Amino acid sequence: MASVQCMPITGGPAARRKTRQVGIRWGGQRVTVGGDAPIRVQSMTNTDTADAIGTAIQVKELAQAGSELVRITVNTPEAAAAVPSIREQLDRMGVTVPLVGDFHYNGHKLLTDFPACAEALSKYRINPGNVGQGAKRDSQFAQMIEVACQYDKPVRIGVNWGSLDQSLLARIMDENAQRAEPWEAQSVMYEALITSAIESAERAREIGLPAEKILLSCKVSAVQDLIAVYRELSRRCDYALHLGLTEAGMGSKGIVASTAALSVLLQEGIGDTIRISLTPEPGGARTGEVVVAQEILQTMGLRAFAPMVIACPGCGRTTSTVFQELAASIQTYLREQMPVWKAQYPGVENMHVAVMGCIVNGPGESKHANIGISLPGSGESPAAPVFVDGQKVRTLRGERIAEEFQQIVDDYVKTHYAPAAVTA
Ligand code: SF4
Repeated sequence: MASVQCMPITGGPAARRKTRQVGIRWGGQRVTVGGDAPIRVQSMTNTDTADAIGTAIQVKELAQAGSELVRITVNTPEAAAAVPSIREQLDRMGVTVPLVGDFHYNGHKLLTDFPACAEALSKYRINPGNVGQGAKRDSQFAQMIEVACQYDKPVRIGVNWGSLDQSLLARIMDENAQRAEPWEAQSVMYEALITSAIESAERAREIGLPAEKILLSCKVSAVQDLIAVYRELSRRCDYALHLGLTEAGMGSKGIVASTAALSVLLQEGIGDTIRISLTPEPGGARTGEVVVAQEILQTMGLRAFAPMVIACPGCGRTTSTVFQELAASIQTYLREQMPVWKAQYPGVENMHVAVMGCIVNGPGESKHANIGISLPGSGESPAAPVFVDGQKVRTLRGERIAEEFQQIVDDYVKTHYAPAAVTA
């Protein structure tokens, strides 16, 4: 058999594609997207924006979960009138997150008729497929861009396959028909999405919006379509890109589809901000989409938001539900502490905690984590060794294993991540 030459094996994502950085401002604050900024997590409310209190509460929940931009729909005069009040309530509550206004059909009118709304929003999302028909389309699009220029606001030109500009699609189809070898319908669809985004951006620049105030997105609902479109969009322009699989769906399907699509693109260095379009379960928390977005970025090693819990899946060696309960409770506990820990213990988001079900992989995995516990599997003595930075430090027994383990985690955080005292 021919020998295979061994080379060092390397890992990690490709370098981020270079994009223009966009500054999104509110009050005296600013968050950046694109360029060398971290890949940002954003989300969208599902409240009636005209309900200013309900919307402000949900924006606060999303921001506390870690959303760095929150989009609200601005679809009626009542919604537009409520936007300044939402901003004021957020400021009063100390919620430092920019509000993005999502406009369809009547955005030109709302932004013009409600200047306080135009001012209170930090960014506008404009769908070029929904700005009007025929001759009105160009003038209404121009009207919205002029407002953005007047108030110095960035704009996301957000194309969506479900609402693609039909006149542009007809033009791309005509051009295709002229080809000696016409493209497949799928390629025509990709071309139409990308052309709509890039031509709209060019039009916005002609009107006076600087390139550093433009972000693009081209959302579709199928994983392979999204990957193909964004690869080409990224190749053709250097605008900051917003990634998201539209209408991803509910539960595991929505999470898996979004993760599959975004992971491929993020691994290739494509994407400056992400949103996970999950349909919440009835009564479910809207913040789930923020958690999924953070977990995609963190598990890929692109950002860290909260300590990671490594847990084995359990098997026939797992003796009881104690192991699952401990893994779930410590994960919830760590996430709940983050709003406070983030400020008090910088770097704690990089901590790894292992919760393992038996001796087979338990001690090994526990030693690789900052803190690990190996619970007793079937036939093992009822003891749970705890490892801290690779060393076995204690063995827990009895009914209070969960509480004692949580205390060990707390002590570790306080002793390892507290900023060094400043000495005179
Ligand atoms: S660590 Fe033990 S309990 Fe967990 S999956 Fe492996 S063998 Fe099963």
